[in-house]
Amino acid sequence: GTSHFSTAAEPSSSRKGSPPRVPNLIGGSFVDSKCSTFIDVINPATQEVVSQVPLTTNEEFKAAVSAAKRAFPSWRNTPITTRQRVMLKLQELIRRDMDKLALNITTEQGKTLKDAQGDVFRGLEVVEHACGMATLQMGEYVSNVSHGIDSYSIREPLGVCAGICPFNFPAMIPLWMFPVAVTCGNTFVLKPSEKDPGASVMLAELALEAGLPEGVLNIVHGTHDIVNAICDDDDIKAVSFVGSNVAGMHIYSRASAKGKRVQSNMGAKNHAIVMPDANADATINALVAAGFGAAGQRCMALSTVVFVGGSKPWESILVERANALKVSAGTDPDADLGPVISKQAKERIHRLVQSGVESGARLLLDGRNIVVPGYESGNFIGPTIVSDVNASMECYQEEIFGPVLLFMEADSLEEAISIVNKNKYGNGASIFTSSGVAARKFQTEIEAGQVGINVPIPVPLPFFSFTGNKASFAGDLNFYGKAGVNFYTQIKTITQQWKDSAGSSRINMAMPTS
Ligand code: NAD
Repeated sequence: GTSHFSTAAEPSSSRKGSPPRVPNLIGGSFVDSKCSTFIDVINPATQEVVSQVPLTTNEEFKAAVSAAKRAFPSWRNTPITTRQRVMLKLQELIRRDMDKLALNITTEQGKTLKDAQGDVFRGLEVVEHACGMATLQMGEYVSNVSHGIDSYSIREPLGVCAGICPFNFPAMIPLWMFPVAVTCGNTFVLKPSEKDPGASVMLAELALEAGLPEGVLNIVHGTHDIVNAICDDDDIKAVSFVGSNVAGMHIYSRASAKGKRVQSNMGAKNHAIVMPDANADATINALVAAGFGAAGQRCMALSTVVFVGGSKPWESILVERANALKVSAGTDPDADLGPVISKQAKERIHRLVQSGVESGARLLLDGRNIVVPGYESGNFIGPTIVSDVNASMECYQEEIFGPVLLFMEADSLEEAISIVNKNKYGNGASIFTSSGVAARKFQTEIEAGQVGINVPIPVPLPFFSFTGNKASFAGDLNFYGKAGVNFYTQIKTITQQWKDSAGSSRINMAMPTS
């Protein structure tokens, strides 16, 4: 189909040669914002301005919420089989446009094309799962709770829901949100990351092409103001957020104070514990892939390795394999990792590595001064390894979100587990070992929501849920899976009585009992 994104790209006479403006989606139409301020979307490998994203006006935001509110009554009454069929079509269209989506992600976000395909694919799997919503949304029934009386519960949609997205998975995270929400019968207002909004717009085009009625999915771009408007709006019943803790805790409290449901997935410091009996080759490859893949900009990226028995035996081979990775623009077919998202992110990562060195850590591999030929102005950082790190260092306490692996040491599995458990975050943690006893102890005692046993990035598939805990999550109901369906629905419990006769003619003033 024709892309509304490129339609918006057609330069008007006054904007000849200017980058395309990213449209909002309001009530089924892609429309340019009338706002006066736009933010540049920048290709992190080249600094080229890809497009401009609007700081949507409050009026436009209200129009998006009203469109969603108007679409709700008929969409919630649309048969669930019809709603599922929209998802069945959507998954087909996402497959059709996989390469286009991946190229957009690489251009705006920087990750390699292959990794960008993975970004789309892990979201696609949520769409596939939503195709079985009738079963997922099924209620419960108990007959004859009293004489002639049955009780049953149904899961009903909430109304207008909203989603606020981070930059690091421009396709997967919007797809954690709206497919589940709308297939449950809700309507939706999506606020993509202002750093890479293109994939959300393309996915919305596909959703319309798949038959999603107008107003069911709306998109408004912007930053803090639009986020605060989402938190405050009385017509929005639930907010899904993925991003940093500063934004997430603000959104959690502000939206909760307005009586909304909130699910908030936030920052991480994911550890791996490596036991001396781990399969060396598999472990080394897993650590390198999980530490440096996507330039460390995954919420489940590995950031800290705790070596039980010391890091020395592992250091030189890890440095060698990390150093062999190719850092280049994501469009380079040989690239293993691309740039980080922005100049500011690069500076922040440099500063955190430097603070580690200044507080006594050893820099085993320094990727900070890398220059990528042909992409000299890209935000590149090569794989960086910092050893002799301890828990009091700033580089350990802060989420680095870059291609930096920290090495720590422990004398025993107990000590290693206690290091991980003391960290405030609880997204993911993995153990590498050939001992079932050690693995089972780790699984039982570790305080993290997503646990890997010889698996470096244990992100659950959509029939489970994304179950980070501690400071990595706020709320009760996680994203996707059964918990996701429960988040986007509320339970109504019905008690019905059908008797042959009219029943007793007495008035019973006591609490009914059977
Ligand atoms: P971010 O918090 O800067 O931005 C996320 C969203 O919140 C954006 O849409 C942004 O416009 C908005 N926002 C930012 N600051 C705000 C504020 N003060 N008030 C209101 N809105 C605000 O996050 P990011 O840099 O885009 O993403 C990286 C972060 O996301 C990392 O911390 C990473 O660990 C986390 N993350 C977590 C998960 C998870 O599932 N736990 C997944 C992906 C990313």
